[in-house]
Parts: sequence; C-alpha cells; structure tokens
Amino acid sequence: MVTRIVTIEQQHIDTAAIREAGEIIRAGGLVAFPTETVYGLGGDALNPESSKKIYEAKGRPSDNPLIVHIARIEALPAIVREVPETAKKLAEAFWPGPLTMILPKAEAVPKETTGGLDTVAVRMPSHPAALAFIEAAGGYVAAPSANRSGRPSPTLARYVAEDLDGRVEMILDGGDVELGLESTIVDLAVEPPVILRPGFVTEQMLRETLGTVETDETLFRSDSGQAPKAPGMKYRHYAPKGELTIVRGEAAAVTDYINGQLARGHKENKKTGVIATDETIGRYESQVLRSVGKRNDEREVAQRLYRILREFDDEGVELIYSESFDGAGISQAVMNRLLKAAGHRIKEV
Ligand code: AMP
Ligand code: MG
Repeated sequence: MVTRIVTIEQQHIDTAAIREAGEIIRAGGLVAFPTETVYGLGGDALNPESSKKIYEAKGRPSDNPLIVHIARIEALPAIVREVPETAKKLAEAFWPGPLTMILPKAEAVPKETTGGLDTVAVRMPSHPAALAFIEAAGGYVAAPSANRSGRPSPTLARYVAEDLDGRVEMILDGGDVELGLESTIVDLAVEPPVILRPGFVTEQMLRETLGTVETDETLFRSDSGQAPKAPGMKYRHYAPKGELTIVRGEAAAVTDYINGQLARGHKENKKTGVIATDETIGRYESQVLRSVGKRNDEREVAQRLYRILREFDDEGVELIYSESFDGAGISQAVMNRLLKAAGHRIKEV
C-alpha cells in the first residue's frame, strides 16, 4: 500500500482532501489525522473489519480498546446505552476537547472496537480538521494514537509516517499538535467516576463539574498490586531504547545527582541524555541535552515531551535522566507518561 501524505492548513481546510479521507474510511480503509492531543489512526468505528485493521497496523494487542471519535453531541446517543447526567455535564464543559468518557456501549458498536468490553470510550476532539474528517467519514471514527505499539504517540505527521508508512492509505498532515499528550480518560460507567488516565482536563476541573471524582491508584504506583482499569494502561506503552531514570528532589540535589551519573556513564562509554528545563539546561554535561521548556509552563512541558523521547531514540541515547514534574494539574499527566516510559524507575535525592 502506498501512503499519501496530504497537508491540511488549519485556517483553510482543504475540503477535497477531507472528503477523500472520509471516503477511505467509509470504504473500510485507514487514515491518520491530527487532533489537538496527538495524531490518531482512524477507521470506521462501526465496522469490525476496520477495527481489526487498526490493531494490525499498530501491532497492538486486540484487547486494548479504541476511542470512538465523534464530531457532534447528537452522535452520542446512537453508540451508548444511555447518556447519563454526568456525561451531559462533562460534554457541556469540555467538548470539543481533550476528554474521553467511558460509557456502557450500544449494540451498534462492535466488540472489535471496544476490545471485547461492554463499555465504549468516546471523545469529541476540537481540532477543526479532525471534526471535518469525522463528519466526512460518517460520524464515528475509531482511533488510537497513530504510532506503532511501543513508540511514543506522534505529535508530528513525520513521526506518523515513520511508524505507519505503507500501513495506512492516507496521512492528513496538520503540523505540530497543540497539546502533545493523550486525552484524559474518565470512567462514567462506575459510581463515583474514576480517572483512568490523567490529561489536560485535570482532576480538579472534573471535580468542579461532577463533585466526587476518584483517580485510579494504579496510575502513579508500580506496587499497588492491582491491574489498571483502562486496559491500555497495563501495557508498558512506550519504553525508550535507553534506560530512563526520573530524579526527584530539591533542584540543586537533582542536578548534582544527575551530573554524577553522567560522569559515570561517560566513563563506561555510554551515550547520555538529559531531559532538563530552561532553568537548568546550562547545568548539565550530557551528550544529548533537551529542555521541555520553562518548569512553570506545564503546557509547554507536556507539548514537548514525546518529541524529545523520540529524539533520544533517534540519537541512540543509552542512559537518560529526567527531572521530575510534581504539580497537581497537567504535571500529573506528564509524570504519568514519564513514569511509564521509565518503567517506574525513580530516584529520590
Ligand atoms: P490511545 O488512543 O492509543 O491512547 O488508546 C486508547 C486508550 O483508551 C487505551 O489506554 C484504552 O485502554 C482506553 N480505553 C478505550 N476504551 C476503554 C474502555 N471501554 N474502558 C477503559 N479504557 C478504555
Ligand atoms: Mg496510544
């Protein structure tokens, strides 16, 4: 299969390209597309054969369910058993946007799309090209992140092409994504609602809308002894080729510790890398050095993280040290992804 890459201008969406992308989905094919979070690998959510193709293209285990993307709130009732008050309130507050809701599924959604579950994950993205594409595709696009299983979610079309060239009919190139981390997932099929994956819509924001919200305790701990409730969370999603360690503590202690480890790495002839911040980047002696931005700018940190992890892989870095990000808001999402990438290896100093 030859993959076509088509550039989409945010300001002036090429309707011919979107129409064509929609036709590919209706015919049972696959199209990768930009959203505000990361790029998605889309297929017809109501066609079991399309969902099978998505798993195949990603190399993803088929018990790891897909998120169904819709473009209008009116599309929701057809794919869920009922629309609870909680879902109405959250849709009102956060859709279109980076929030995925888990609800009991309707007959119309095949088990292939939900990884065999009786619930379905639904999101309405805010990216204008994504919305136009979903409409053109018939209104229901199943899409996980558009990476091969085991790589970071792609934040640029170039990374989608690296992973999926020859495996999808078309890639819609919308440039760099706005947010850079996957959506928040909240399970509304249980009472009280539970956050299964942290993201830009934070626990506090959800509390303001819903009252009580809990967070799945397996998200930040490796030793809780419980299986995560979002099937995708049980997989060691992405592990960099190098050994990643997160270092937590007071700023000076962190840089001292990391520099000590870098010196050791250099002696052992290992290629080293550091994930630093604008404030600290000048303090490290590392072969590959990247800043995720200003420490207080959580959005910037989130936006840059996956790209930096891909760059370390591309440069063959063997030992990676990252500063830790411990705020209560978007930092929770950053830390959750970092912890997974590090296999929960964290050094307190
Ligand atoms: P991705 O789009 O690649 O981030 O993957 C979708 C994520 O949503 C995975 O982590 C899934 O486990 C999660 N997910 C999708 N559907 C459900 C569901 N019905 N219940 C719980 N988690 C889900
Ligand atoms: Mg993913």
